[in-house]
Amino acid sequence: MTSGDDGFTPFPIDLVSDNACHPTAGMRRFMAAAEVGDEERSEDPTVRQLEELVADLTGKASAVFMPSGTMCNIVAFFVWCRSGEAMLLHEETHPVYSKYAGPHIHNRIELHKLAGRCGVLAGETVERALREIDSAGGTARLLTLENTHNRSGGSVWSLSETEEACRAARAHGLATHLDGARLLHAVAASGVSAAEYCAPFDSAWIDLSKGLGCPMGAVMAGDEQFVEAARQAKYLFGGVTHKAGMMAAAGIYALRHHVERLVEDHERAEELASGLSGIRGVELDQERVDTNLVYIDIAGSGLTAADLLARMASAGVRMKQIDETRVRAVTHLDITSAHVRTAVATAEAACTDS
Ligand SMILES: *Cc1c(COP(=O)(O)O)cnc(C)c1O
Repeated sequence: MTSGDDGFTPFPIDLVSDNACHPTAGMRRFMAAAEVGDEERSEDPTVRQLEELVADLTGKASAVFMPSGTMCNIVAFFVWCRSGEAMLLHEETHPVYSKYAGPHIHNRIELHKLAGRCGVLAGETVERALREIDSAGGTARLLTLENTHNRSGGSVWSLSETEEACRAARAHGLATHLDGARLLHAVAASGVSAAEYCAPFDSAWIDLSKGLGCPMGAVMAGDEQFVEAARQAKYLFGGVTHKAGMMAAAGIYALRHHVERLVEDHERAEELASGLSGIRGVELDQERVDTNLVYIDIAGSGLTAADLLARMASAGVRMKQIDETRVRAVTHLDITSAHVRTAVATAEAACTDS
């Protein structure tokens, strides 16, 4: 079993991201049967149904279907911040490290980057930053948080940490935004509901393709006024589509069938972490495995991350390179325990062959 690196041959065991999972047969049938209309004119009943479901799920008044999570962030930043104003966020978050959705695209606003263990920003950290911005004559508009926090290993914020950071921002008149690409993973791991997590935020979104199996899409929620402004910005950035109901149907199907099972992805991640960390020269590079992301550091193996990934690719297993010696593997809808065992055995063979 081999996979080419031509970018087209699928990897039978694809741990590169949770967006590597595929729509199931049931999801495809549900999409094909969806009632559709023109989304631009708010005439698509399936899009409206998905938006209502996510508004309810997040405890907000309204929601808007978006083509991607990246567009949710761009639109939210556009709505909340004018040119030259500052947004506070953790130094290791998607708008900071993403190659194509990073600082160059957000250069209209000042990204005020903050440090915090496991992706969590303490209230005190937020307050100190606001004093700095104030004394430099700047204007801070927005605090953006990410839950789960991708780069620290899919770590989960507690509700009280979330409330504390948002309280500090709101006390100074800032709006608060949640990048909830994997919010439903945080819900599955913590038992805190999505509505409880979203309550301290003015805007919050969930991704439909991170482990939920949808071909595309994300949904962003907030009050009526925010969502109306977000709809206009979505249009401005070219995100309005027409018979979007077929894509929204996938989201409805995923919310019904693929949310409760996220705990299984977390179990697979535990199995993967324990298998990989048992290999000589491989260290788990995160404090704990809360959800579905596993980061390892293979410096002790004598291999580079690129070497390891190339050896694994030739056995049909894909993971993602983070830097010279760090690698990320993500479990999702398409990954079984048998796949995890094969992935671990493949990594072990790659490390011991060196
Ligand atoms: C994947 C991801 C995004 C972007 O979502 P897309 O749907 O891929 O555009 C944003 N933030 C975080 C934390 C992510 O993991």
